[in-house]
Amino acid sequence: MLSSIYGIDPGKLESFIGDYFPAYRCRQLLKWIYGKKVFDPALMTDLPDDFKEFVSRSFDLGLPEIRQKLVSTDGSIKYRLVLKDGKQIEMVLMPEGKKLTLCVSSQTGCARGCLFCATGSMKPARNLESHDIIGQILLASHLSDSKITNIVFMGMGEPFDNLDNVLDAIRHIQLQDTLAFSPRRITLSTCGIIPGIHKLADSGIKVKLALSLNSANNETRDELMPVNKLYPLPALKKALQYYQTKSPFRITLEYILIPEVNMGYNDLKALKRFSGDLSCKINFIPYNPVSSLSYRAPEAKEIEDFMRLAADLPQAIMLRRSKGADINGACGQLVVRSQIHNKEQQ
Ligand code: SF4
Repeated sequence: MLSSIYGIDPGKLESFIGDYFPAYRCRQLLKWIYGKKVFDPALMTDLPDDFKEFVSRSFDLGLPEIRQKLVSTDGSIKYRLVLKDGKQIEMVLMPEGKKLTLCVSSQTGCARGCLFCATGSMKPARNLESHDIIGQILLASHLSDSKITNIVFMGMGEPFDNLDNVLDAIRHIQLQDTLAFSPRRITLSTCGIIPGIHKLADSGIKVKLALSLNSANNETRDELMPVNKLYPLPALKKALQYYQTKSPFRITLEYILIPEVNMGYNDLKALKRFSGDLSCKINFIPYNPVSSLSYRAPEAKEIEDFMRLAADLPQAIMLRRSKGADINGACGQLVVRSQIHNKEQQ
């Protein structure tokens, strides 16, 4: 089986190609792939036939296949994709003003089992290779009329459980010879894997960090997110403080609003204690119900009351609507539904 060309370091690619063709052929090839988003050598019109044949013979230029596409009334588009080995993942394109954000997956399931998440209800599956991640980004760039301005690792999977491949992919798309993607426009989200936060801090790779917090009360977080039993809040906070000594960017705390779970006065007091001395901003996101799970979405009045109290927090706060609620917008929902459907058909 041929190796995927996506993710091969441009220097290594050039030296491999340089054994057979002039080095500038490699630069032309990279321009076709990362600049013009053309992935079929036959369509690379200024390349000679023998080089096109060489590329086709030497590398796999395949991208994930689209199995399903759903368009939301808010403009976001969700894709269910199939990888070479038949595993399924999701990616979502979310337009907002001049911004176009791509949400990518890092695993084909997730072992972390957060109670509010459809992906967490799947069996843990495999880590994506760096080329699977880059493949999503290239495919999305090819599909969309506008330029992708932001990338968030908030799709299926816990990126910090696949950190080496995720960092390889990030390193790759930040290179001048590929997409030259700005570090401030890439966000890595974690449920709170402390060794991963340290590793990212020490990696030298610049990227924004988001923590899916959802409760600053240890007992509530233990229930919502089993990972908290392994990496409890006090230790997590220390890891975030360490990260801050190494990163120029503010951390984002993500807090999904779930009635009867984390929207009380005491929940806000705990959040104030946890975030008080962190340089961070806090995004509150009303829960987007998943049919297979028992939590409900907050009503408008409950959100309003909560946000009024939250205005007391010292950090910048933002109420963000989850995108694509009408198209199974929460991560993993499309794949879970297709798996249920397939089982029903058997
Ligand atoms: S929220 Fe993230 S870490 Fe938690 S189960 Fe879902 S995909 Fe995994």
